Amino acid sequence: MVKIVMLGPPGAGKGTYATRLAPKLGIPTISTGELFRENIKNNTEIGKKAKEYIEKGELVPDEIVIEMLKQRLQKDDTKNGFILDGFPRTLEQAKALEEISDIDVVIYLDVPEEIIIKRLSARRQCKKCGAIYNLLYLKPKVDGICDKCGGELYQRDDDKPEAIKERLRVYEEKTAPLKEYYINKGKLITIKTTKIDTPPEEQVEKIMEALKQKGLI
Ligand SMILES: [Zn+2]
Repeated sequence: MVKIVMLGPPGAGKGTYATRLAPKLGIPTISTGELFRENIKNNTEIGKKAKEYIEKGELVPDEIVIEMLKQRLQKDDTKNGFILDGFPRTLEQAKALEEISDIDVVIYLDVPEEIIIKRLSARRQCKKCGAIYNLLYLKPKVDGICDKCGGELYQRDDDKPEAIKERLRVYEEKTAPLKEYYINKGKLITIKTTKIDTPPEEQVEKIMEALKQKGLI
């Protein structure tokens, strides 16, 4: 049983590593984007609420996200643990998370800003299933087409240069303080990236090694 949070700036590789780590540990990856898509697709009560905010281009309030997460964590596939990707993003969310689950470890991805900017600019997402690709190291088999579902790939507005700078600023202000918070709880593992072309598998091995050293797997 291991409950993991992936922490790090946008473009640090949280989703990329989480989706590779999950099958090795036999646990699911849970991202807020996925929670929104699932709930909206299934037209759940909470999904309807979230949709109102998303359609207005507003942030979905914490209590809605937390409720979705709470319901998700009750599903059977999380009985051996889970990996949270992209949540919590603020101190308030971290505290709310503690109310519903006891996290074992936080994997902090330490990546220089220049690498982040290059990586994010090369990111593409599937319009249909939400799968993430990267033109630098995680290319689809056919240009512009999703390997998994055949959907069309596009560049999200928030992966464009002007938006990236703003995302990094918000990260520094809201999310970076979580590092200190989890260090103080003795739960932080730092995984450093120094080169843009480091294969994800190599970093995932480092994470596995760190989890073993901590006696978590
Ligand atoms: Zn797809």
